Amino acid sequence: MTDLIIQEVGPRDGLQNESALLTLPQKLELIRRLTAAGIRRLEAGSFVHPKAVPAMAESEEVFAQLLKEDPEPAVTYSALALNAKGFERALAAGAREIHFSFGVTSSFNRQNQRAEPEESFATFLSLLPQAREKGIRTTLTLSVSWGCPFEGWVDPGRVLSFVERAGRAGFPEIVLADTIGVAVPSQVRRLTEEARKAAPQAIIGGHFHNTRNTGIANAYAALEGGARVLDASIGGLGGCPFAPGATGNIATEDLVYMVEGMGISTGIHLEELIEVAKWLQDVLGHPLESSLLRAGPFRPRGAIA
Ligand code: ZN
Repeated sequence: MTDLIIQEVGPRDGLQNESALLTLPQKLELIRRLTAAGIRRLEAGSFVHPKAVPAMAESEEVFAQLLKEDPEPAVTYSALALNAKGFERALAAGAREIHFSFGVTSSFNRQNQRAEPEESFATFLSLLPQAREKGIRTTLTLSVSWGCPFEGWVDPGRVLSFVERAGRAGFPEIVLADTIGVAVPSQVRRLTEEARKAAPQAIIGGHFHNTRNTGIANAYAALEGGARVLDASIGGLGGCPFAPGATGNIATEDLVYMVEGMGISTGIHLEELIEVAKWLQDVLGHPLESSLLRAGPFRPRGAIA
């Protein structure tokens, strides 16, 4: 357990579920503060229909500004795309890494993308050669890999069939997402291990929501199962529009605290990250759910008399 990429998804998965919309300068400041704290991979926007996700309507401008400030960034700014149009927009915006995502169950994906899972998957496969030709790295996230708000528990075989085919098609990274936060660690460890076997050439990642307080335990289980990328969002920001009561992603600062304590070096400065979460909490005007934000890092005060 030595190499782990922490991918910050707060500016995308987090903000898209906030009722308060950040202004473009606020979004950019959030991203700048995160990268100053040592974040090296960050989902900076999502190229979906602006009516469907108003918070992401300015993704073009976000990328334009980031690339204007630094045309050769050391940070990977990635973009989410859910169809061919989104892929084109992400390319035009200058994203060097594009994340595809679809729900593995028919009901979830029809609701979310108005397509069957196989249709979305086929679209992404058809875009791979173009991405490869242009030197764009692509990843595939399988939403509702454990539980679906409409169909219940998901058959692991269904997930693994997509993993196996995505690996064979050459996706360098496949992320299993517990979109609505229902999975428990034993399930996460098992499916992560099986995904590694099904796509041995790909990096397997995990994306966990803390809806039922299993998020950080699931992140640990994913690491044990061999995951090498974990998504997290600053302050634990986020939710899911299709899962009532769903809370945010695991908080980046909570994840950094845990893995650094386990001897996994992330390159992220925990104290600075907590400062970013504090700043964001003030901007949003409501408390964020991260534990480190509440308790701070461990600073022993000596014996209590
Ligand atoms: Zn999510």
